[in-house]
Amino acid sequence: MVIVLGIECTAHTFGVGISRNGKILANVRDMYKPEKGGIIPMESAKHHKDVSEFVYEDSLNKAKISEKDIEVIAFSNAPGLAPCLIEGMKFAKMKAEALDVPLVPVNHCIAHLEIGKSCGAKDPILLYASGANTQIISLVSGKYRVFGETLDSGIGNFIDTFARHVGIPFPGGPEIEKKAKNGNYIELPYSIKGMDVSFSGMLTKLKRLYDSGTKLEDLSFSLQETAFAMLVESAERALAHTDKNELVLGGGVACNQRLQEMCRIMCEERGANFFCPAKEFLVDNGAMIAYTGELMFARGIKIFPKDFGKIDIAPRERTDEVEVKWRR
Ligand code: AMP
Ligand code: MG
Repeated sequence: MVIVLGIECTAHTFGVGISRNGKILANVRDMYKPEKGGIIPMESAKHHKDVSEFVYEDSLNKAKISEKDIEVIAFSNAPGLAPCLIEGMKFAKMKAEALDVPLVPVNHCIAHLEIGKSCGAKDPILLYASGANTQIISLVSGKYRVFGETLDSGIGNFIDTFARHVGIPFPGGPEIEKKAKNGNYIELPYSIKGMDVSFSGMLTKLKRLYDSGTKLEDLSFSLQETAFAMLVESAERALAHTDKNELVLGGGVACNQRLQEMCRIMCEERGANFFCPAKEFLVDNGAMIAYTGELMFARGIKIFPKDFGKIDIAPRERTDEVEVKWRR
């Protein structure tokens, strides 16, 4: 049995989770919220620095363990906003050096996938719908391959950008979901190319319609119906091509009830199983980093303090660049 502390720091959230034997003992997080506009990377990094010690202490208290019980520290070194990643790495190295424990660098997207699997899926397709990332991923020949992805912005950033245009602050997704409940359908550009999706055409149209007086409720409803249908279509095609029969949802946008419903219906219709982790594991969180770090550590992936100089951030690392040695 090993106790792993996981640190999440790729974008807006600083989180510390603790796992033992695949069981999550604590999952504490603090999210940076810009006063207006979108995320400013340097400000978000400063937020992480300011809250890190408190979130760390709180997580230890919730898990009812002391610092000395930590045997491994995992942290998200990729992908993400460089200033945020650096702040997280500094904190992870500082704690690991003080406690003389090894570090495990974890890819954030893969952590969403691994925590999704913890719901019971064995060999799923992951629909990863977050702020900055939108990908359809699955493990094939030792790597998490990207079957489809956005060609422009992540779905969450797309929703947030439209929300900001209509005066809703970041994160806009939850408010758009509320507005959508009372809307009617308007046709919007449906853009799927092969397995890839794009949102820029829809964003332009939404802004134009809003500026010419179309009701926000109708636009919100139509945005969800159109954008989510694109994701579900690509995910369904990935299931068909790979002959797999499990779908896992991940990422902050997966909190959306309508997206969950559309995935559930698609899976029911083709006899596949649908898995959606609890909300605290869908949003960015430290528990998924601890959980994935534990899997990796168990297969011998670890870096000792004398080699910490070799550890770096990888802001643009792609999911399919990582050798998934722990799943062989
Ligand atoms: P992440 O990047 O995975 O932390 O997720 C953050 C993104 O999820 C932001 O773009 C939010 O607007 C979006 N989001 C959170 N809740 C919802 C929701 N209920 N519906 C749509 N998007 C959401
Ligand atoms: Mg994420």
